[in-house]
Amino acid sequence: MKHLILLGGGHAHVHVLKALAQEPLPSAQVTLVSPYARQIYSGMVPGLVAGHYMVDDCVIPLAPLAAQAKVTFVQSAATALDARTRTVSLSNGQSLHYDALSIDTGPVVDRHAIVGADEHALFVRPMEDFVVQWDDLFALTQQQVLSVVVVGGGAAGVELALAMQYRLGERARVSLVTGGPPPLPSHPVRVRSRALRALKRRGVTVLEDACTAITQNHVQLGRGMRLECDSAVLALGAAAPPWLQRSGLALDERGFVATGDSLQSTSHPEVFAVGDVASSASRPVPKSGVYAVRAGPPLALNLRRFVAAGELQPHRPQRVALNLLACGERRAIASWGPWSAEGRWVWWWKDRIDRAFVAGYR
Ligand SMILES: Cc1cc2nc3c(=O)[nH]c(=O)nc-3n(C[C@H](O)[C@H](O)[C@H](O)COP(=O)(O)OP(=O)(O)OC[C@H]3O[C@@H](n4cnc5c(N)ncnc54)[C@H](O)[C@@H]3O)c2cc1C
Repeated sequence: MKHLILLGGGHAHVHVLKALAQEPLPSAQVTLVSPYARQIYSGMVPGLVAGHYMVDDCVIPLAPLAAQAKVTFVQSAATALDARTRTVSLSNGQSLHYDALSIDTGPVVDRHAIVGADEHALFVRPMEDFVVQWDDLFALTQQQVLSVVVVGGGAAGVELALAMQYRLGERARVSLVTGGPPPLPSHPVRVRSRALRALKRRGVTVLEDACTAITQNHVQLGRGMRLECDSAVLALGAAAPPWLQRSGLALDERGFVATGDSLQSTSHPEVFAVGDVASSASRPVPKSGVYAVRAGPPLALNLRRFVAAGELQPHRPQRVALNLLACGERRAIASWGPWSAEGRWVWWWKDRIDRAFVAGYR
């Protein structure tokens, strides 16, 4: 019997688990490896920070999902992968051999990208740590007014800065350090203007500069400014997990797994990779949950066919995706290509989509 390992409980793998619960793989033993027994859905984290959700509203429990799919759940993290011997080493000391491997472990935040960050900053990933640290930070703001600096001008940084300023109100001064360009550099211009207006409305100070160092009480910016800071929150872009470096898998220039149209590694066909941990020269897509979700059905199909030695199907993701950006209060900005809209109704729409996504896996 073949052994298929699902590494990570990310957006695509929860779909694979659901598909396996509906139709088991007859000729394979399947193992899910993930460090936490639940998956916090990132799309709802800004709403959690803003106080619209409890953490339980935002989680997909992995263990019951695996049990329904008759998949063995190992609560641990991959620390090394040897593609030559087909072995995954885990943080609990176990080594697992596979015939087929699917990687959906998401990105990591580079804790050493900014001097002092590892020691003094809060990181948005792993999200399990972030939600605990956010609770602690919230509790601290009930005792004293704090200066909070969110570092990262992408969607996560903008949403978190808005959510924090909304939730903390007079209890904090929130700044957003973008890294240099204006916030949301890869979004359409009208979305950027809408987000800038939202940041202004909420009173978030936007600093278009790079953060070069973080100390216990300050954030140092590239052009010389030194910001007072009680808590720095790092929402930097996606970095590749370091354990891939020596795996022997073909990686792109940033260290993500190079994959082809069938979602297989370009060097090792028995290895599949999807979501933020994967990259593709022929179908480049942004690193985002939407694209990770979309990879779920073709991945489930191709894993099934691979195990049965069938013909794999190419996955060609749509170039355009619906983008929904939470604005702290119950408002959101929607965009689809160049079209955009905003308001309370967009928040209501986003809330419906997000709750339905999580509910679909419970
Ligand atoms: C605050 C915030 C808000 C966001 N909002 C949105 C949004 O609204 N829309 C959107 O499209 N994108 C959003 N994103 C981006 C989105 O989170 C990512 O693009 C998405 O999570 C990628 O999905 P994934 O399946 O690749 O990985 P993930 O969702 O990160 O899942 C990875 C899984 O692998 C597990 N794992 C990690 N390391 C290991 C290991 N070594 N071994 C085994 N398992 C491991 C993790 O615990 C997790 O279960 C947001 C990001 C943040 C930080």
